[in-house]
Amino acid sequence: MNFFHTNPTAIFLFLISLILLSYHSSAALESEVDDESEFTYTEGTGKGPKKWGQIEADWKACSNGKMQSPIDLLDRRVQVFPSLGKLKKDYKPAPAVVMNRGHDITVKWKGDAGKININGTDYKLQQCHWHSPSEHTFNGSRYDLELHIIHLSPTGEIAVVGIVYKYGHPDPFLSKLFHHIKSSGKEERDLGIINPGVIKFGSRKYYRYIGSLTVPPCTEGVIWTIVKKVRTVSREQVRALREAVHDGFEANARPTQQSDGIAVQFYTPTVNGGST
Ligand SMILES: [Zn+2]
Repeated sequence: MNFFHTNPTAIFLFLISLILLSYHSSAALESEVDDESEFTYTEGTGKGPKKWGQIEADWKACSNGKMQSPIDLLDRRVQVFPSLGKLKKDYKPAPAVVMNRGHDITVKWKGDAGKININGTDYKLQQCHWHSPSEHTFNGSRYDLELHIIHLSPTGEIAVVGIVYKYGHPDPFLSKLFHHIKSSGKEERDLGIINPGVIKFGSRKYYRYIGSLTVPPCTEGVIWTIVKKVRTVSREQVRALREAVHDGFEANARPTQQSDGIAVQFYTPTVNGGST
């Protein structure tokens, strides 16, 4: 065959079509296997947590940020702040959907599902999702699961409530969603009316600090409220969440970030009385 020797244009077109073909098939494979793989949780893949800040121009905070989450909550470093007050929570039942975002399972409320109030500002409940194992650690201890409840103020400020779980009795909220989680897909799936009030906090004690989103773009200025009480979740429930997300995202916890400059406040209802 001397076809290529005699026709440089043919060689050129042939190479171009090879490139297009390989690009097309890898793109197709990617959307089939994992269409959310812009970032991963595995170092050494080029897209792991240490590289997040280099993947997209507006993800720079992931590596340059000074108040990145999650962090280790060290009891000896927190300051007790009675003036923080009890977390004002006013949730109500509303229509919701579940979706598999590839890197996590998210429940999103479509109607008015209520709000929390921090320093006089209302933050409306938007969605919640799970990380396994937990992202925040308590005095260096990592737990089995962490729920993030995302709220938004009218001006776009983000307030997240985090609840951590260790293996034990099933979590009532996940029990309600169990079968939907198992069959969740990329498309939103109707859950009907979901009452966020079913999410149990179990304690009035909480940590408060200003940090960031724990996934790209790692946006800073997020108001974190981490409930002190470690609740329980069954192994089966965590397994269902891990099996539902895409391959490679079974563990979807960002490592804890440098927290030297971050002030962590702690609220407890009473000094001597409060067992909750
Ligand atoms: Zn999260």
